[in-house]
Amino acid sequence: MSEEAEKPVEYNLEADSELRFELEAKGEKVFVELKSGFAELFGTELVKGKAYEFTTGAKVAIFTYHGCVLEVKGKTDVLYVAKETPMVQYINCHAALEQMREIAEEKNVQGPIVMVVGPMDVGKTTLCRIFLNYAVRVGRRPMFVDLDIGQGCISIPGTIGAILVERPASLEEGFSQQAPLVYHLGHKSPSSNDALYRIIISKMAEVTLEALQANKKTKASGMIINTCGWVKGGGYRHLLHAAQAFEVGAIFVLDQERLYNELLRDIPAFVKVVLLPKSGGVVERSGASRAEARDIRIKEYFYGHRSPLYPHSFDVKWSDLKIYKIGAPALPDSCMPLGMKAEDNMTKLVAVQPGPNLLHHILAVSFAESIEDDVIQTNVAGFICVTHVDCDRQTITVLSPQPRPLPNVILLLSELQFMDTH
Ligand code: ATP
Ligand code: MN
Repeated sequence: MSEEAEKPVEYNLEADSELRFELEAKGEKVFVELKSGFAELFGTELVKGKAYEFTTGAKVAIFTYHGCVLEVKGKTDVLYVAKETPMVQYINCHAALEQMREIAEEKNVQGPIVMVVGPMDVGKTTLCRIFLNYAVRVGRRPMFVDLDIGQGCISIPGTIGAILVERPASLEEGFSQQAPLVYHLGHKSPSSNDALYRIIISKMAEVTLEALQANKKTKASGMIINTCGWVKGGGYRHLLHAAQAFEVGAIFVLDQERLYNELLRDIPAFVKVVLLPKSGGVVERSGASRAEARDIRIKEYFYGHRSPLYPHSFDVKWSDLKIYKIGAPALPDSCMPLGMKAEDNMTKLVAVQPGPNLLHHILAVSFAESIEDDVIQTNVAGFICVTHVDCDRQTITVLSPQPRPLPNVILLLSELQFMDTH
């Protein structure tokens, strides 16, 4: 990392072009300032004269509809201006959604509920962000549902979440995470427990569709649903199920014609299916960088990002813990009690004995008060992380956003782990 100031470079962007850059080297920082004109980052407008800071891992496109001058200070790994972008097609889709919202508002009916699908690394999450930002910029208040278990942008990995979007995403930290609705799966991939994933999608749909009705503005604004990049076999069946559960009116398919045609074949004709190109700027991520992104999300959950959070650390006695995991090891159907399928096993609560097996694991704090409640269909309040296990004293040390004591709650074990090196 060099301390001497890099010379700022100015870029003059024509209308409908974007400046793309990536930062890979650890510890590097880049500052971007809008000097003149108008520009936006995935739908969030830049304020003129403000220096925006980007750090390691940033993969960014700053787009302009009317032309602009940007000043970049610092060393990027890749940086270029692209004139070919699908942004005009994306804004046309937004305009179509806006028309539907106007009609919905007039008639006081449900606004558009749409889903964004596509294989991995095609810009699904980015397109959702653009749609949501455009919607709030014209005064809407849409719901955002993220069904992506592995790379979701609400709450932490291993969960699905929903938030009400009231203002554009901050350039650095994304959408405000106030009071998200979160359901626990406890795995990085839906395929680890398809039965549970299906159930929490149904539950999420039921709750969010009802919540949408509570407020006239939100009702007309509708919902944007992000999905996983797993689009074959079981993943595809989850997409069909989600489309049905959320009663979606339109599906935007990024990049893949095969998926587009399958959906045309399998989705009722009243649902619009629209094929959209992916942006040439979308960056492919390796397995390692996906794992790292998951880690960063968990770290930010406990420690915050730009505005730091200060988590608590304290000991809890094993005897005070009520830990469960969802899903017992699969038995062949022939070994199951009469009338039960192996799949039922995957949605059973199984008590977990505290011990070294908990080390570094994430535990979801359920809103359920007892195991008599329908725990798997109950949303979660937050998460703690087991940072130490003491077998002699029979205690664990946890990292928690809330101070002690741990309320008398049901904890759900997640497969996800986080090494607290803070
Ligand atoms: P996943 O399969 O992991 O869910 P995805 O389809 O949701 O991926 P995104 O997360 O939207 O894809 O995009 C992948 C990466 O590419 C992100 O880091 C994003 O910031 C970056 N990106 C998206 N669009 C552009 C663009 N036009 N120029 C440069 N980078 C971009
Ligand atoms: Mn994504």
